[in-house]
Amino acid sequence: MKAATFEYVRATSVDQVVRTLAEDEDAKILAGGQSLVPLLNMRLARPTTVIDITRIDDLSYVRRANGHVEIGALTTHRLAETSELVRRNVPLLAEALRYVGHVTIRNRGTIGGSIAHADPAAELPATCVALDAELVVQGPHGQRVIAAADFFQGYLMTAIEPEEVITEVRVPVLAQGTGCAVEELARRSGDFALVAVFATMTIGTDGTCQDARITVAGAGPAPVRATGAEALLKGAAVTPDVISAAARAAADATDPPNDIHGPAEYRREMAAVLSRRAITKATNRANGGV
Ligand SMILES: Cc1cc2nc3c(=O)[nH]c(=O)nc-3n(C[C@H](O)[C@H](O)[C@H](O)COP(=O)(O)OP(=O)(O)OC[C@H]3O[C@@H](n4cnc5c(N)ncnc54)[C@H](O)[C@@H]3O)c2cc1C
Repeated sequence: MKAATFEYVRATSVDQVVRTLAEDEDAKILAGGQSLVPLLNMRLARPTTVIDITRIDDLSYVRRANGHVEIGALTTHRLAETSELVRRNVPLLAEALRYVGHVTIRNRGTIGGSIAHADPAAELPATCVALDAELVVQGPHGQRVIAAADFFQGYLMTAIEPEEVITEVRVPVLAQGTGCAVEELARRSGDFALVAVFATMTIGTDGTCQDARITVAGAGPAPVRATGAEALLKGAAVTPDVISAAARAAADATDPPNDIHGPAEYRREMAAVLSRRAITKATNRANGGV
């Protein structure tokens, strides 16, 4: 099947995107096209106007400023994944991006597109929540900065208004002594996750956990931040028993779907297994291991 007819606008500025969105409430932004184009071809999306933003050059960058790594919305997954700045300062993000589809998809797909699409099984939304990232959006009334924790509101639903565009993701630089790990279960390499866990562990010189962040993808309508698990870890000596209790708490925080890919109970069990592995690996890495 081919897409239904639409008007095509090649935007050259964010202002033009915002203006066009305000003029046509059925307009849709096109970035890497890796999610939108299949939806158009299956006629699951039928926008009257498609606003191509790929020629807005100043939306593709990775830079460090004010204790954050700032990533332009049009930056491709692959550019962010291979960026030295990202690898050094927010290694969880570089590791998570390696799980997004295949390299060909990551060469076209964009950071802003993944975040706007907000698939609950996608790696980037869960990573943004784990890293306390902020999303910068621009609309007719100017710029807004939204915490990732408030941005992802449900299945493919975000806090972005119809006439707004994501322009940037701001990710706080991780503290010294922080180890990160991603553990993902998918049917085939490159598939969306059945369940994935994203963990950072900051270990002090006395061996206790100073900070822990754990997020689960594929286990609810939006990324799940496992705050109960984090509370069990913070201030504790990270023993196998503590890790097991935290992993159980992370699984208990999930509300996984029952679908053709797997029953809810299976996903919940996998959330416990993957959490245990991710917390263990992140702790080992914080202690200088691999
Ligand atoms: C075979 C295959 C496997 C995949 N596997 C995975 C996977 O394992 N994990 C994963 O996370 N993803 C996966 N994806 C999806 C991929 O990551 C997409 O690139 C991503 O979801 C969307 O990014 P995009 O730039 O292609 O956006 P587009 O497809 O162009 O747009 C997606 C949506 O976001 C909106 N949008 C885009 N940019 C902006 C913006 N700046 N501001 C506001 N709205 C915007 C569009 O209007 C549209 O609604 C896969 C895709 C394919 C085809």
